[in-house]
Amino acid sequence: MSQNILIVEDEQSLAQVLGEYLSQSGFSVSILNDGLGVIDWVQNNHVDLIILDLMLPGKNGLDIYRELRVFSNVPVVMATARIDEIDRLIGLELGADDYICKPYSPREVVVRVRNILHRSVDDVKVTAQVLSIDEKTMKVLVKGKEVSLTRAEFGLLLHFYQHKDQVFNREQLMSKIYSDNRVVTDRTIDSHIKNLRKKIQSVDGEVDCIQSIYGVGYKFAL
Ligand code: CA
Repeated sequence: MSQNILIVEDEQSLAQVLGEYLSQSGFSVSILNDGLGVIDWVQNNHVDLIILDLMLPGKNGLDIYRELRVFSNVPVVMATARIDEIDRLIGLELGADDYICKPYSPREVVVRVRNILHRSVDDVKVTAQVLSIDEKTMKVLVKGKEVSLTRAEFGLLLHFYQHKDQVFNREQLMSKIYSDNRVVTDRTIDSHIKNLRKKIQSVDGEVDCIQSIYGVGYKFAL
């Protein structure tokens, strides 16, 4: 399965060229040309890495980055046209994964993207040793042992798994597992998660793959 790269860049020809290099290197590429819809897009699509321009119409890259980090740890490469800007950004200790200065060589960017994703792939391997989820058969293995889940529990686990590092509030989780908009209380989600944890921990008490974020909701943590 190819990894998805989101390029946020208002210079369309630049985005195009970089997108082509990344596609040729085996990545799936999406491009957004302004800053306004980025957060919404990331919340609704799977993305493995974002190349984020700093100066954007609508909303600047710095604001986007800060909003993004509230709910996601997706790797971000910040792009700017000013080399002195990079020093300032590093000084802010934002924690972006890399910085690139325009004009950049698309080939160099591909190398950097590969390096960053390679680091993340190692994390995926560790996860895979603990948890394996088969979407078609709804079969879940924890350390190789099958765990039987209800449809709601499975839906939650899969959603967390597919959106690692994102924090979801209870409302978002409810809308994921109940498409009919039925009225359920916050406690419904809490008890589904409690049961899900209990079932996973019945195999290994050390495995705690869903983390509560106090006052916000839950995130996947493996
Ligand atoms: Ca720009």
